[in-house]
Amino acid sequence: MPEGLGRKGEIFVDCPFCEKAKIKVFHKEGYYQARVSRISAGAKTTRHWVPDQYMVLEDCPNCGAKKKDIEAMLEGRYQKKRSREEIIERLKKRGLPLVFEKREKR
Ligand SMILES: [Zn+2]
Repeated sequence: MPEGLGRKGEIFVDCPFCEKAKIKVFHKEGYYQARVSRISAGAKTTRHWVPDQYMVLEDCPNCGAKKKDIEAMLEGRYQKKRSREEIIERLKKRGLPLVFEKREKR
């Protein structure tokens, strides 16, 4: 039995974070999978939907987003965690001075 009936292959998608770079992704289209369950009266076939899967093959060369995060974003399960870097990144985009970054150790 071949695994997965949907199309699959390498595609390029826009980085969902910065939308300025193309990310190489292995995409597996969603498909219906038949499952045979044995019951006393014989076998019953049920089908269930296997959703699209994305396997991100590289970090974003532009904004440095991690494979895992891009993957989560593509599958719609990305949860924003405001890391320090993200906040700095956001401020940079707004053009605000990064005072706390320039603090020096003496
Ligand atoms: Zn990016």
